[in-house]
Amino acid sequence: MTATTATEWEMVVGLEVHCELATATKLFCACRNAFGDEPNTNVCPVCLGLPGSLPVLNRHAVELAMRVGLALHSSVEPSLFHRKNYFYPDMPKDYQVSQYDEPLNVGGWLDLPDGSRVGVTRAHMEEDTGKTTHVGGGGGRIHGADHSLVDYNRAGVPLVEIVSEPDIRSSEQAKAYVNELRAILVAIGASDARMEEGSLRIDANVSLRRPGAEAFGTRAEIKNLNSVRSLGRALEYEVRRQAGRLEAGEPVVQETRHWNEDEGRTSSMRSKEEAYDYRYFPEPDLVPLAPSDEWLAGVRAALPVLPADRRVALAAAAGVAGTDPAVATVVHLGLDDLVLAAVAAGAGGRLALNRAANELAHGAVPDAAAFAGVLRMEGDGRLTATQAKAVLAELVASGGDPEAIAKAKGFEALDGGVVAAAVDAAIAAAPEEWARFVAGEAKVAGFFVGKVMAATAGKADGKAVTALLRERMADR
Ligand code: ADP
Ligand code: MG
Ligand code: ZN
Repeated sequence: MTATTATEWEMVVGLEVHCELATATKLFCACRNAFGDEPNTNVCPVCLGLPGSLPVLNRHAVELAMRVGLALHSSVEPSLFHRKNYFYPDMPKDYQVSQYDEPLNVGGWLDLPDGSRVGVTRAHMEEDTGKTTHVGGGGGRIHGADHSLVDYNRAGVPLVEIVSEPDIRSSEQAKAYVNELRAILVAIGASDARMEEGSLRIDANVSLRRPGAEAFGTRAEIKNLNSVRSLGRALEYEVRRQAGRLEAGEPVVQETRHWNEDEGRTSSMRSKEEAYDYRYFPEPDLVPLAPSDEWLAGVRAALPVLPADRRVALAAAAGVAGTDPAVATVVHLGLDDLVLAAVAAGAGGRLALNRAANELAHGAVPDAAAFAGVLRMEGDGRLTATQAKAVLAELVASGGDPEAIAKAKGFEALDGGVVAAAVDAAIAAAPEEWARFVAGEAKVAGFFVGKVMAATAGKADGKAVTALLRERMADR
């Protein structure tokens, strides 16, 4: 395979994300919507497609799908269900009910922590298929398997399929998109978005083009991506594969490819189906879906503040850029209220973000007032960074008052004068090193910091000592 570099080819990616909605029951019947139950126990004539049974649309599923649309800034529109006909054994009805050319949620976008925006084409409702397990021989694939087992518990579970515009340009951005989407789905209570349980499934469409080119290249659609990590690996593999073909003068074939996690490569599954293969026609047993304005307004009013808006508010309060990585981390950890409270109580925004992102990633969350207290002590120079982290760790482990903890640990406030005197003494005692420092040998600062630390029993702040050394040099 020909080696390639990112500058030679631009990756173009659009993602189709299937998300199972967190309803109690299925989309068109009263069967339980649950993961992990004994196979074929949550089934009835409706989801098994027995003759004479009729679907009844689940109102809660529609409401959750509307939440998804509103959270993605889509326009929620009157929509229609169609039958998508096909003959895999995973759908006992031989068709899947799905929204086709008139989806519930039209257009929209999603803002990522790095400041980029990915367009959303549509987010439509459909029912999930059953789950087929291929047994023996083929490594879980149908080719070479001895037989297949099918579980219809999942058949008829409500899904929203979120289709992105082909706006994604790197595997990192693709992963960030999925992570952001998951955070939104969980925040609005639409789905548990657990990829390991299949409640969130991704198909990745990827093509290459020369940087600066207008037209998109031919795409391959990759299936069987079971984690965000697999998505990234599969895209990186696919870029190398497609670049290899293009550079050898061979076309990329439009097809569906299967990601093999163990082998770390994709392989051809089947040529791409076209819409006409599915012979879509309107579902005659369901009326058009047209949520009233009141219903829509109620759903909108009940939405929580979304991660992107929380990042904007947090960055503004902390006085940092919205794209600051610590902002995304703090929101991801759900520590934004803690940081906002600390800033309101007089702590520095930068310091509060960094300490929350780095020191509170695991374990319990400290009391907001105590968190603000230790940050103020550090900000005022009464604690060094190392001391502040130690006090914070103690606060997280057993709570308490930061002043008292600092005192118990012997972190007495060091008078600025004591540090200055120790710096002066260190300079006087080492004229040779001082001459080297003054001559521009910056690393000698470490020698002086060490001397001052020794003289102050480790209580001086290294940064403050270095600043004093520079002052002394400028004052010579
Ligand atoms: P289909 O109906 O065949 O699945 P769509 O036009 O709905 O095709 O596109 C499916 C997905 O493929 C969307 O996420 C879209 O952004 C993406 N996509 C379309 N064209 C390309 C391309 N040339 N390269 C990468 N992704 C693409
Ligand atoms: Mg598709
Ligand atoms: Zn059922």
